[in-house]
Amino acid sequence: MPLTLSDVLDTLSDPVALGIEFHVGKIDIKGEYLTTVRDHIRVGNILVKGGTQDLAFYDQTTDVLLTQKKSPPADDSDRALLLHECVHAMIDVYDPGGTVTRHMGEVAAYLVQTAYSVRKTPTANRTGTAPWDKFWGDLFATVRANKLDTKAGNGARIPSATLESLRRQLAALPHVNYGNFSEEATGVSDGLVRMNLFLQSSDEPVSMRASSVSYEAYPDPSDDYLIAKLLEAYASTDVRGYGKRLRELRRDFLYCSLHRARELRTRLPVRKKGDRVSELFHDRLSHGGRAILLRVLALRG
Ligand SMILES: [Zn+2]
Repeated sequence: MPLTLSDVLDTLSDPVALGIEFHVGKIDIKGEYLTTVRDHIRVGNILVKGGTQDLAFYDQTTDVLLTQKKSPPADDSDRALLLHECVHAMIDVYDPGGTVTRHMGEVAAYLVQTAYSVRKTPTANRTGTAPWDKFWGDLFATVRANKLDTKAGNGARIPSATLESLRRQLAALPHVNYGNFSEEATGVSDGLVRMNLFLQSSDEPVSMRASSVSYEAYPDPSDDYLIAKLLEAYASTDVRGYGKRLRELRRDFLYCSLHRARELRTRLPVRKKGDRVSELFHDRLSHGGRAILLRVLALRG
């Protein structure tokens, strides 16, 4: 069983996490910004779903956070990893122009993860000369050298030489794809704009949203439901109506059974003549909307 929405919200309410404050290049890390991520999760702008992998993952295209496969409740190291992903979400929210590089986003996320771990367990450390051991060892050393493990270090700006050393190591780590991207590569943040372009968040009461509801027993969207949903007509000026449908379908595709998600994944990428759902999916949604929904299905594995 993977970690749950509550584990993520608890992590983002943990005073230790919210007390962390420092700067990684142009990335500002601050409790206030993490609580903004929490608010976005609470109202369903960012969706949380139990994942199937050992590591958690944040997808900036769909604004979906997949938790790690681990029995709840989250322990401190689980929370540290969730916090790492929440830093990616924070960057997505606060850097809608996508100027943060992939490498620096990762370095920031690892440093927050490590700062949290040391604040929770002052003796936490890792030693060794293998690439991952050395990388973690340097993260711990950076946290201590800059006093990120205590309030005294709040507001610290990590020296650029230190960041560059961590970045180079990151890009050379085995079993991960960081090295496939150049130093300058961006594309890890686009704001929550694409999902929320249409959203006036004050209009929908938060309590009505499904993020406050258990999604373990989320009903599968039937063909009839999808056809009716896709047939809903919106005036060309009604961007909010269109956006609301997109949000509902994003939720349906993320929380439905894996079986149903896989089935939709075989039917939707290409317009299948005679398959009403597939036809309407292509005829009634924008290219961008389809891309987000197909990406959600892809995230289901
Ligand atoms: Zn990461």
